[in-house]
Amino acid sequence: MPRRRRQGFSTVAVHGGRDAHETDTPVVTPLYQSVNFVQEVGTEAGLRYPRYGNNPNAELLHKRLAMLEGSEASLLLASGMGATTCAMLALLRPGDHLLASEWIYGGTHRLFTREFQSMGIQVTLVDPMESRVWRKRIRKHTRAIFVETPVNPSCRVIDLRPISYLTQEMGLALVVDSTFASPVNFRALEHGADVVIHSATKYLNGHHDVLAGAVMGTASYIEEVRQKMMVWGQAPDPFACWLLERGLKTLDVRLRRHNENAMRLAQWCSERPEFARVHYPGLPSHPDYEVARATLDGFGGMMAVELDGGGDAAERFISRLRVMTHAPSLGGVDTLVSEPRFTSHAAMTPAERAAIGIPDGFVRISVGIEDADDLIADMTQALK
Ligand SMILES: *Cc1c(COP(=O)(O)O)cnc(C)c1O
Repeated sequence: MPRRRRQGFSTVAVHGGRDAHETDTPVVTPLYQSVNFVQEVGTEAGLRYPRYGNNPNAELLHKRLAMLEGSEASLLLASGMGATTCAMLALLRPGDHLLASEWIYGGTHRLFTREFQSMGIQVTLVDPMESRVWRKRIRKHTRAIFVETPVNPSCRVIDLRPISYLTQEMGLALVVDSTFASPVNFRALEHGADVVIHSATKYLNGHHDVLAGAVMGTASYIEEVRQKMMVWGQAPDPFACWLLERGLKTLDVRLRRHNENAMRLAQWCSERPEFARVHYPGLPSHPDYEVARATLDGFGGMMAVELDGGGDAAERFISRLRVMTHAPSLGGVDTLVSEPRFTSHAAMTPAERAAIGIPDGFVRISVGIEDADDLIADMTQALK
């Protein structure tokens, strides 16, 4: 039997999950900025309330995000941290053990090492590149493995295959935060993950104006996450959903430009003597270049440089930039630069940071969609 042709990524990003357009209906999804919906008399069926995640603007995105990631279901939450928290609480009970990569987002690190420990959930952090260590650290009550890839801010790319063989063999859930890649560049479910998490604040929305998170997985698991979201109060606001739908429409075209721009910038930076090192998985000099080439559909918009003159040189460079903006966060149309020593890794000493590959002088760049020539011109004048 001929299979029905699957629609392309951009078509799904624009139309996925919506009803057929009928005469006189708006082309743009209306914003349902209402907490209450008229209820049928004599039944609890169909009860709508935004905190339950069934506002119409949220429901449309649940379908569209699942189609983009290739999952059975998805859920939108108030932030990336809300997504990670509810996704993990749906998997873990007091007494359970979680195995996680030590290269994870600062907020996730705090959630695992402080909040979960105090709730009686044991957490072990491991070096994700030591593939034999994963198996060694599994305990009787281990329930899940958590990995973030590509990694912030080193742009390391983790090969999920060996980890997914282990989770399948041992009956564990493999949870992957693939915020840095977006579903355009990497769909972790195709590489053995069971659950995918995104900070939708980043590439999914892409315009620096929405805070949101998403979880993708099976329908029964997503229902468990929704139950957590309801009681922990982590549902997104209808207007955030509406803006996110608008941002999502250009996901594919934006990511193509992010990928192109970052590649050009990384190649340019790697020829400048002012930079001691350039971190970008699309460069053959990157330690995970082969894994990135084999598993990613694009090398992404995130890169980092190490200024030869250390912290002072980084500050001089950043303060002279005119097009690129010094600001935290990532994944939007504007190019943003930041120093991890003052943001995500501020709690560490310079020596501790240097030991994990973030020496003073390390500048992370979230490459936007501006014209690459202008970004290069901006860097050129800032290095003078
Ligand atoms: C930003 C980020 C988060 C947290 O997302 P918020 O939307 O800020 O709550 C989680 N993981 C990664 C990889 C991130 O970059």
